[in-house]
Amino acid sequence: MGKPEAAVEEPIVARVVHRSVLVEQAPGRPVIKLMLNLAPQGRAFVAGADVAFLAPGSEAPQGLRRYSIDSVGKVPFEESVDITLYVRDHGVVPDRSTVSFLAELRQGDSVPLYGPFAYPFYPPMGSRSNMILIGAGCGVVPFRHLAHKIQARRLDWMGKVLMLEGDETGLERLYLNEPGVDQDQYFDGATQRAFDALKTRYSATAFDRTAGVQANVDALWRLMGQGRVYVYLAGYRAIAEAMDRTMSDYLRLPGRWQEAKEALIRDGHWLEILYD
Ligand SMILES: Cc1cc2nc3c(=O)[nH]c(=O)nc-3n(C[C@H](O)[C@H](O)[C@H](O)COP(=O)(O)OP(=O)(O)OC[C@H]3O[C@@H](n4cnc5c(N)ncnc54)[C@H](O)[C@@H]3O)c2cc1C
Repeated sequence: MGKPEAAVEEPIVARVVHRSVLVEQAPGRPVIKLMLNLAPQGRAFVAGADVAFLAPGSEAPQGLRRYSIDSVGKVPFEESVDITLYVRDHGVVPDRSTVSFLAELRQGDSVPLYGPFAYPFYPPMGSRSNMILIGAGCGVVPFRHLAHKIQARRLDWMGKVLMLEGDETGLERLYLNEPGVDQDQYFDGATQRAFDALKTRYSATAFDRTAGVQANVDALWRLMGQGRVYVYLAGYRAIAEAMDRTMSDYLRLPGRWQEAKEALIRDGHWLEILYD
């Protein structure tokens, strides 16, 4: 796991067949829904897999940014498919980010599309594990499909779940999945319900968005100490490194955080996808 696969195939040119703005106003960030038509060229485009795009001026594979395919429709009488995805606009335009480039696309435009890439996260076995989801600078958007996968098993989730996100350490905010308020992260009703199903035994000390890093750090470490825990981490490498430093400072014992993390990695209980 880590960066998108090293050997990235040539992009396929996709055409925008539909564009709409899903979330427009505050408090959420704008979310754009795009339907793209493409000839699969023997590649398997399925819901839940990721595709990737490149901001103008950046290079693959480092500059690729992933977007999960929400749905796929076969176009009748044609060797092509329509894929639908959502793009959450972070409003930051550093020499044109991928998001600003995608947000400017209009019906009829063409765009080089990379992938598909396998979705990086698998759910724990059974339904009793504890889970920690950390969005390091990208919100909880990368975990939408994980929530769907768990929901598809039709089990009541018995483990505790902690969902955190933040742009500095990934630990700044508790994700509460509030209807409306958080639509710029869950995007649609089905995902809102899938995240909600995980929240039945939410392991937060307080159901308070403003509880702050310290309360979240406490909650994270406490949950890691309860065993049977899976940690899912997605986002920027630098933010993930800041999280490591925050946790090491909190524990004060040199190497303690790294040790705990490495044990989870060894057991396949720490799954991450990080990019620069
Ligand atoms: C498995 C996976 C699936 C994903 N699926 C989706 C998806 O379906 N839809 C979707 O919109 N995104 C998705 N993402 C996130 C997406 O890949 C990018 O991280 C995001 O779109 C930002 O890319 P960018 O190139 O525009 O910004 P970058 O050029 O990488 O960053 C530009 C600047 O903006 C800042 N920034 C970036 N994102 C944010 C943010 N959310 N809040 C505040 N500041 C930010 C960065 O720190 C940086 O300073 C997914 C990520 C993963 C790993």
